Amino acid sequence: MPETVMDKLVSLAKRRGFVFQSSEIYGGLGSVWDYGPLGVELKKNIKERWWRSMVHEREDIEGLDAAILMHPKVWEASGHIAGFTDPLVDCKQCKNRFRADDPRIKGTPGQPDAQCPVCGTRGSLTPARQFNLMFKTFMGPVEEAAAVTYLRPETAQGIYVNYLNVLQSSRQKIPFGIAQIGKAFRNEITPGNFIFRTREFEQMEMQFFVKPGTEGEWFEFWRAERMKWLQGLGVRPEKLRWHQHGKDELAHYATDAYDIEYEFPFGWQEFEGVHNRADFDLSNHQRASGKKLEYLDVATNERFLPYVVETSAGADRTALVVLCDAYREEEVEGEKRVVLQFKPSLAPLKAAVFPLVNKDGMPELARRLYDGLRGEFNVFYDDGGSIGRRYRRQDEAGTPFGITVDGQSTQDQTVTVRDRDTLKQERVAAPQLPAYLKAKLAG
Ligand code: ATP
Repeated sequence: MPETVMDKLVSLAKRRGFVFQSSEIYGGLGSVWDYGPLGVELKKNIKERWWRSMVHEREDIEGLDAAILMHPKVWEASGHIAGFTDPLVDCKQCKNRFRADDPRIKGTPGQPDAQCPVCGTRGSLTPARQFNLMFKTFMGPVEEAAAVTYLRPETAQGIYVNYLNVLQSSRQKIPFGIAQIGKAFRNEITPGNFIFRTREFEQMEMQFFVKPGTEGEWFEFWRAERMKWLQGLGVRPEKLRWHQHGKDELAHYATDAYDIEYEFPFGWQEFEGVHNRADFDLSNHQRASGKKLEYLDVATNERFLPYVVETSAGADRTALVVLCDAYREEEVEGEKRVVLQFKPSLAPLKAAVFPLVNKDGMPELARRLYDGLRGEFNVFYDDGGSIGRRYRRQDEAGTPFGITVDGQSTQDQTVTVRDRDTLKQERVAAPQLPAYLKAKLAG
């Protein structure tokens, strides 16, 4: 079978240290991935950008970092115990398990005409059964029913149960929001497509609390803001589109929902959602906990339960969008090159410093420049192999600038700076390098 773009991306991600399969030396753990030296930087850059735009640049949003483990009653009240399920079918022949809506299944599961997509047996698929996607675990030393708790399947609930704490301690007024980045866990049945659908992942969620009746405007406001933010990642606009959920697609908590989809190599798929959750969560928590969660508007003396507009993004899926969008295969000077054209501010490494050859004072000067830049920028030093090969390695890492110290450098303290995308080289005075890079990395 020919190698697909995804195959190439997965192998590049491993080769260059973006993403590794979890526990690989033990044969790997299904749909769990580890971020290597470059991957952790890329994801961190995305998360920091999100945090800056949500929490730091806005006066009406506060940050939060709630624990992953929560009181089990949270998940009853939120509807996850009853409703966070996927319909599944099993193959009695090969014992594989599938989502009932798996497009590879021919026929109706449970009927004699249904065919298992893996072993091909007819009539071996069970009727669909509901399967809860939450990971169960036990709190404390005794593994008994009373000790059952869950790994959170979304970060949002940590925000709802802290809504009053944040409101009172920050002295915010409605409308205001709470933002959180953190791990979530779902026991996905047909995970796959690399880091697209995994069992452990990170979410970047913001819940915006508004006065009932104003949620429509805020919903439109946040849709526009999120699209603007995504375009700021440098993703090609023609690869992004909205998808409004039909009545049959809406999650148990939502009254209106739009996904933002990206055209991945495996098709258009969601990677962020904007949801109108009305008072679904706060009213359920108010009822289940017996604690009043109403807001008192002191100006009008009105009491109400706020409505919620949520923006919910996956940090890993956004990283996959950025990786897929940056991936290019090009022909340069008769040679094929693979390059990740990240927006410079998102790139894991900002520049690489190379001595042209390992003699005549070049390594010493190159090291000095590298040491000087390192405190301010994530830079890399490489003196191994021909300069062409060193450039190619950094192209694959997505490093936007290659700084080369050559014979002239030791004479006049200038270096060449190669642009990853245009391949143009310009001479820059060494003392100007920090200002040069800073200007190029803005935005
Ligand atoms: P899907 O339909 O793909 O399962 P969802 O509609 O259940 O996703 P939400 O519950 O709205 O997703 O979660 C919000 C975001 O969290 C998603 O847009 C996605 O970026 C991320 N996300 C959800 N599930 C996963 C997963 N299993 N792996 C990686 N990211 C995920």
